[in-house]
Amino acid sequence: MKLAKCVVCGAFSMREEHCGKRTVSAHPAKFSIADKYAAYRRKAKFG
Ligand SMILES: [Zn+2]
Repeated sequence: MKLAKCVVCGAFSMREEHCGKRTVSAHPAKFSIADKYAAYRRKAKFG
């Protein structure tokens, strides 16, 4: 099951559209990992 989030009202939905707009994935796992690496690289730069 894929949970999506409405970018207009912020509600979670299983539909591809909400409030007339396309919903985005509510599971941005890839983005979290990217953030982790970004923070690490930033630390490494100053360290
Ligand atoms: Zn909505």
